[in-house]
Amino acid sequence: MTDALWFDPSLMLIGGTWRAASDTLPLINPSDGSDLARIARGQAQDIDGAVAAAHAARESDWGRMTATERGRILTEIERCVLDRVDDLATLEALDVGKPLIQARADAVALARYMEFYGGAADKITGETIPYLDGYTVYTLREPHGVTGHIVPWNYPMQIIGRSVGAALAMGNACVLKPAEEACLTALAFAHIAAEAGLPDGALNVVPGLGSEAGAALASHPGVQHISFTGSVRTGALVQQAAGANVVPVTLELGGKSPQLVFDDADLDAALPFLVNAGVQNAGQTCSASSRILVQRGVYEEVRKRMSAAYSNLSVGPALDDLRIGPLISARQKQIVEGFLAQGADLTIAAQGHLQDAPDSGAYVLPTLFENVPPDHTLARDEVFGPVQVLIPFDTEEDALRIANSTDYGLVASVWTRDGARQMRLAKALRSGQVFINNYGAGGGVELPFGGIGKSGHGREKGFEALYGFSTLKTVAAHHG
Ligand code: NAD
Repeated sequence: MTDALWFDPSLMLIGGTWRAASDTLPLINPSDGSDLARIARGQAQDIDGAVAAAHAARESDWGRMTATERGRILTEIERCVLDRVDDLATLEALDVGKPLIQARADAVALARYMEFYGGAADKITGETIPYLDGYTVYTLREPHGVTGHIVPWNYPMQIIGRSVGAALAMGNACVLKPAEEACLTALAFAHIAAEAGLPDGALNVVPGLGSEAGAALASHPGVQHISFTGSVRTGALVQQAAGANVVPVTLELGGKSPQLVFDDADLDAALPFLVNAGVQNAGQTCSASSRILVQRGVYEEVRKRMSAAYSNLSVGPALDDLRIGPLISARQKQIVEGFLAQGADLTIAAQGHLQDAPDSGAYVLPTLFENVPPDHTLARDEVFGPVQVLIPFDTEEDALRIANSTDYGLVASVWTRDGARQMRLAKALRSGQVFINNYGAGGGVELPFGGIGKSGHGREKGFEALYGFSTLKTVAAHHG
């Protein structure tokens, strides 16, 4: 077990008590394939216990707190997270394989979510509604009750921050099921939140397999809202399971997000965004920009500049803090290599290079493909690895048709100096977010985030998440 662990990672948090599960699972360091720790293999009965503890919290201290008091606790959690940024970053680097600098940014983002939702907790109000003579009508925003949070391995801290932070701000009690591949920072966060004064049972954490603890949480009749981030296949299962209990679900499922580069674009400004949005976190980002659509007049220039940037991308162990770390697992490496093999009929414009990367780690070379037909698998399916495709286009209409031609719609960006074109495309792109002359892969605590089509539904981040994590009651008082 690594020295970076300052808590027992094999325990689950249920109702304020750290407990052992009946079995444990191995946690692997993807940088070298070594054993990192053993984590709890939570089962359906552990989820039962966590849901009961969450209900108990709603009926005691936590449920009785004012919004201002909840906000103050979140703000205190922010302060405690900021005190532990380096510890959290080391854990995330070891667990996820993220270069330290990116892991540190995720820990700071976790604190920022606590700051934002701590400040917002008592800013959500209802409204009064003009109605019939002799009536006063108003609305109340109330928590759902117990919320389930099923989180993937790619950005544990950021995803916990945005979903648990918003749910707690509204007064829900949470049951968190982190991913079996990476759950150390979920456990560390629960320790920190308790130290900061979060009452017992307001946050419960049950690690375990998706098919066991995850499925039990998604189908639990005592849960009133589910927030899920992960694959389309699992998202559909979670929606089905929650549907049986008629429970609302927020699904955030990834994408094939395009950046559209026009002949008049500022290429100096665009270049860092074009590359980084594709390779950040080794491409394992739901909002990664994996399609770069380029107008013919600047296609060759963009191809040359992106290729030069790719040649400088070094890949190695997370603690070496290079641009790119390993993928999350040997399994994910196999999936990405399968996609690369499907690109055998394409031309590779450039690749990065390995730097002191052990054979036992889950490394793949970042790869840029050129002149890719829009209907090719690599231009349509989510790879979830550091792979981008360059697609040339002629006109604005072509660019829009290609951009909107996948099943996904999470993020898109437009690089052009033409203001009218910016406005036209912002409206016409099928996407949950559109960036103009920038690209925000994962960034923007304040910005509502979520997809359309197979990218999912519901919105997290910003104030919008607070509406999602609450329900509206209408009160109509007849007083004559
Ligand atoms: P996944 O969707 O299977 O796992 C995400 C979370 O869901 C994990 O916590 C997992 O334990 C849980 N889960 C799995 N099966 C479940 C079930 N039946 N009921 C309830 N919860 C369940 O994703 P994965 O297998 O880790 O990765 C597969 C692919 O998913 C990746 O290649 C990638 O394309 C995609 N992915 C997307 C995101 C994203 O941010 N959109 C994140 C991770 C993975």
